[in-house]
Amino acid sequence: MVIKDGRVAELLQPEASARVSADVALRAGGLWILPGGVDLHVHVSDGAESFEAGTRCAAAGGVTTILDMAPFHGCVRPEQFLEKVAQARASSVTDFGLVAGIVVNEEDLEALQELARLGAAYFKLFMPAEPPANARLLWSAVQAAARTGLRLAVHAEEAGCFSPEVDWTDPFGFARARPVVAEACAVAQVLEMARAAGAPVHICHVSSARAVELIASAKAQGVDLSSEVPAHFLLLDEGEFARLGPRVKTTPPLRKPEDRQALWAALNEGTLDAVASDHFLGSAKPASVDLSQMREAPAGIAGLELSLPLLLAKGVREGHLSLGRFVEISAQRPAAIAQMGSRKGQIAVGADADLVFFDPETEWTVSSQGSFSRAETTPFAGWRLRGRVRRTLVRGETVWDGETITAESGWGTYVPSRGGSG
Ligand SMILES: [Zn+2]
Repeated sequence: MVIKDGRVAELLQPEASARVSADVALRAGGLWILPGGVDLHVHVSDGAESFEAGTRCAAAGGVTTILDMAPFHGCVRPEQFLEKVAQARASSVTDFGLVAGIVVNEEDLEALQELARLGAAYFKLFMPAEPPANARLLWSAVQAAARTGLRLAVHAEEAGCFSPEVDWTDPFGFARARPVVAEACAVAQVLEMARAAGAPVHICHVSSARAVELIASAKAQGVDLSSEVPAHFLLLDEGEFARLGPRVKTTPPLRKPEDRQALWAALNEGTLDAVASDHFLGSAKPASVDLSQMREAPAGIAGLELSLPLLLAKGVREGHLSLGRFVEISAQRPAAIAQMGSRKGQIAVGADADLVFFDPETEWTVSSQGSFSRAETTPFAGWRLRGRVRRTLVRGETVWDGETITAESGWGTYVPSRGGSG
């Protein structure tokens, strides 16, 4: 492969590479060269993380483009959006796109057309907010998506189905209080509205078998629909609440082993489009495993650095996912959903040279140390993984050499969706 000015200039057979003279030559003998990951759903500007720390996690985890979410009311006006672009540009080591939202009222929808022009990848509505989003706001948002063409991503849980009381002394209390029916009702409502309005929608962090069935049926009927699943729903189930308590508190909650199986099947079949980390760090304090902390603990798992290595080790290396499908769900489909054109998500002449050198054989143990996240703990600490990210390139530049971050903060740049002008 020849890289010139940050892009793939030529794809060569190995024997042809001897005739090329280059300033820098990288050898990848025995390694897999994969397109850099595109993570559709991260929260690095929110909570206790930052663009600097978050994009370092991304680089070390084989992700070369992140799509950062906004907090409530966070990115609903063009000036907020542009300010965030500038802030992220100054401190990122990987490339990034931005999500508009989170919309919490009708006024938050007013600037969507302008946000679309500035290159927002999509916009977001968080149904179980306080107070919860009602059907009127959801319908307005779906209609706005149809009008502007900007995809509406939804955190789909119907708060009316939550238990008013949570038994915090029961390890399963939190999961029981946010049952599958809450997700299923929310997904059904979003999909029915999307069908009626002809709107593009995206279901965030799908957790249950029932939500998968609803998504499959809407897709079969032609609804313009995409969806994502985080690694923690594929690899962990509610049994972890008894072992790890607040460390695995996330919303929707971890589900049953049957749901996990359904998510793997849906990822393979194409019902689920992408793996996305939903990386969130609510507090800089290490997450406790003590059940008595469960009520106060912020919800969220910091998975940006581990998401793709986990999927490669537990999915591809253990035979639950083909390598071709891994490339689709980690890079091609998310880049297409984020409308980043032909620049991202693929190894092709003319595309950005965003590459991951993956060593498929080396075994290693996940530790809570050595992570770039400000999170000091991970639910995956102690897991043995087969395969490791040895090098990550963003636009032809090595940003992670397998041991350290080698790019300056600020190397990362903004990638506007649909070639926007931000
Ligand atoms: Zn999220």
